[in-house]
Amino acid sequence: MLPFKLVYSDDYYLPIGAHVFPAEKYHHIHKRLIETSVAEANDFVAPRPASDQDILLVHTPQYVQKLKSGTLSPREELEMEIPFSPELVRAFWLAAGGSILAAEYALNDRVAFNLGGGFHHAFPDHGEGFCMIHDVAVAIRRMQRDDKIRRAMTVDCDVHQGNGTAAIFAGLRIPSAPLPSTAPAENVAAAKLRNAHAGEVFTISLHQENNYPGWKPPSSIDVDLPDEVGDDDYLAWLDNALSSGLRQFEPDLMCYIAGADPYKEDQLGGLSLTIEGLKKRDELVFRVAKARNIPVMVTYAGGYARKVEDTVTIHSNTVIAAKEIFAT
Ligand SMILES: [Zn+2]
Repeated sequence: MLPFKLVYSDDYYLPIGAHVFPAEKYHHIHKRLIETSVAEANDFVAPRPASDQDILLVHTPQYVQKLKSGTLSPREELEMEIPFSPELVRAFWLAAGGSILAAEYALNDRVAFNLGGGFHHAFPDHGEGFCMIHDVAVAIRRMQRDDKIRRAMTVDCDVHQGNGTAAIFAGLRIPSAPLPSTAPAENVAAAKLRNAHAGEVFTISLHQENNYPGWKPPSSIDVDLPDEVGDDDYLAWLDNALSSGLRQFEPDLMCYIAGADPYKEDQLGGLSLTIEGLKKRDELVFRVAKARNIPVMVTYAGGYARKVEDTVTIHSNTVIAAKEIFAT
């Protein structure tokens, strides 16, 4: 039995038809974890959908109304890049409920997973890039509202910048200390590190600069990586960003957005991480969180490997990494 919970539902499947987003991945990850004896049936807990009240902690009443009444404009639907349906709305409400539940479990057990979620491109008033509802932001706001946490840190390792996260939490910034000027390694000097400010939620995003979203609203720390960055450089930048962030900010909860798309075989990504390198990435995040006693909630976000089984392996490895790091 795992020393933490995996929040999962078969209804995480997104009814979007043939799409580059492999909506069946959630089901495959669940199956893989059981078949390989990484997890057993009672490690999984089923989420309930978030309430409208929860969703409204992040999203505007106008946007929520449009989703519930099916009255998005064609342009708004196009921007979301997934076909609207009432079933899709239900799946996103469920993903948000899953992240709320995972955050609650993480606060008790040091770590917990939502085997879904990570929809970091959703904004308060619109959806973008396959994301309708920002489940992670909803979970943070719910934990704050319930006085379970005051301060949260998002660590976004999806290959795409967390533009929704940056926009949602931009309103609460206070000036913070500048970063040290030293780069983690000489040969990664081409990557750019941008540092803004942090309020109650400190946002870190490591992403490929030359990729969606074109407009990247500032996170607390943005690491704009050049194309084709490999394992060692990526890990050095992640280590640097985590150390810098945690020098400036002490979170009560870390939200790790463990996108599988920095993988070298990803169809929508232009970085060059290996499957082993991605697991080292997960281990690094977990080691840092554990050493500092910061509860960590994990969500999955993107993953568009040419072979879906690679995406499933990368996401399953994140559970294995947590199992290894949090075994004691
Ligand atoms: Zn992505």
